[in-house]
Amino acid sequence: MKEYRKYAEEMLEFIDKSPTGFHAVANLAAALEEQGFRRLKESQAWELAAGEGCYVTRNDSSLIAFRLPAKDRAAGFHIAASHADSPTFKVKEAPEMPAENAYVKLNTEKYGGMILSSWLDRPLSVAGRVVAEGEKGIETRLVNIDEDMMVIPSVAIHMGRDAANKEYNPQVDMLPLYGECGEEGKAAAAHAFLDRIAGEAGTEAERILGHDLFLYVREKGRILGRNGEFVLSSRLDDLQCVYASSRAFLDSTPEDYINVCVVFDNEEVGSGTKQGADSTFLEDVLWRIGESMHLSRSEYLQLIAGSFLISADNAHAVHPNHPEKADPTNRPFLNRGIVLKFHGSQKYATDAVSAAQVRMLCREAGVPCQSYANRSDIAGGSTLGNISTSHVSVSSADIGLPQLAMHSAVETAGVKDTKYAVDMFRVFFAK
Ligand code: ZN
Repeated sequence: MKEYRKYAEEMLEFIDKSPTGFHAVANLAAALEEQGFRRLKESQAWELAAGEGCYVTRNDSSLIAFRLPAKDRAAGFHIAASHADSPTFKVKEAPEMPAENAYVKLNTEKYGGMILSSWLDRPLSVAGRVVAEGEKGIETRLVNIDEDMMVIPSVAIHMGRDAANKEYNPQVDMLPLYGECGEEGKAAAAHAFLDRIAGEAGTEAERILGHDLFLYVREKGRILGRNGEFVLSSRLDDLQCVYASSRAFLDSTPEDYINVCVVFDNEEVGSGTKQGADSTFLEDVLWRIGESMHLSRSEYLQLIAGSFLISADNAHAVHPNHPEKADPTNRPFLNRGIVLKFHGSQKYATDAVSAAQVRMLCREAGVPCQSYANRSDIAGGSTLGNISTSHVSVSSADIGLPQLAMHSAVETAGVKDTKYAVDMFRVFFAK
């Protein structure tokens, strides 16, 4: 159990340091550089040498790292893809909202589809990026206000059961309470929040030209259960898979394949941005790797034909109070290993051949593997796999780690499954 716990704790540390996708990408970039990976820019020419490791980011919120085999010829790409964004609230422009000459609220909107009630009555703060006018023009800075900053209060049960248990309206019920605006009045409240953000970013509110700021839950992730079996944390979907795939990638040296570790942004809002899975990011990077190896178009396509993509995004475990929500025969549980996801209409990219490849990897790694399918009368969610493969058509499987309460402000997973995923990806990246 100790070994499993070590990986779970490291994963929780990574989540704690990564309140937004921008921070997750910055943390990964730092870990890559520490291990000698070279940063490439999309705006510059690339020259790559056999055995080299490099990475590139797009929008500072998506990242692709790769490592070439030591030999000149590769058999294909071995790709792991996950996403670093999670459902949350995005701070709008002109965010301060004085109310009743007593409060300052923040104007926010939903980012992705979350369980709204789970965000109530918790200590929250704000993180993201600020773009400001600096000495040399426009400068981007990451910010994370590392203190308990705000709360979205529930309506008391005494004010009517309807008020407490109704459908929540994001423009009315979900605005966080940030402070008071008593004697200082509305004028002072008008910049109360952006002044604080500017201070954190080392600038002034008037110099802020743009911001992508998101709320995050302040409570740290923890291990709980009778024997410490479970992990409770925000953003397990999908930072658990980001952590597991990147950890294995960093540890591994490929024999015949080009290892590729992809972390996308914007999965929770449909992936349709320049840095999402539905962009050219992955296909551009793979093509440029081929180009720097002086491959002809046909040699590059041979490489693609020999490639495999594992899309890793968390999966629904059977719920202890609602077991009827799960499929009758495909019933994943926490701590029972990698979940292969299947969908008849191909919302998941797994097919018989790619499932077999993942099951073989799990066998080789000594890791248990389970299967997930939606109940035939429940629509279910979607993920990265089939969106990525519409741009780069390679054999792919959708997997995930089993979890409960997906898209709640805090989610529950198994303490063993992070290590299982790291072990499986290590086998994949050693090929
Ligand atoms: Zn996800």
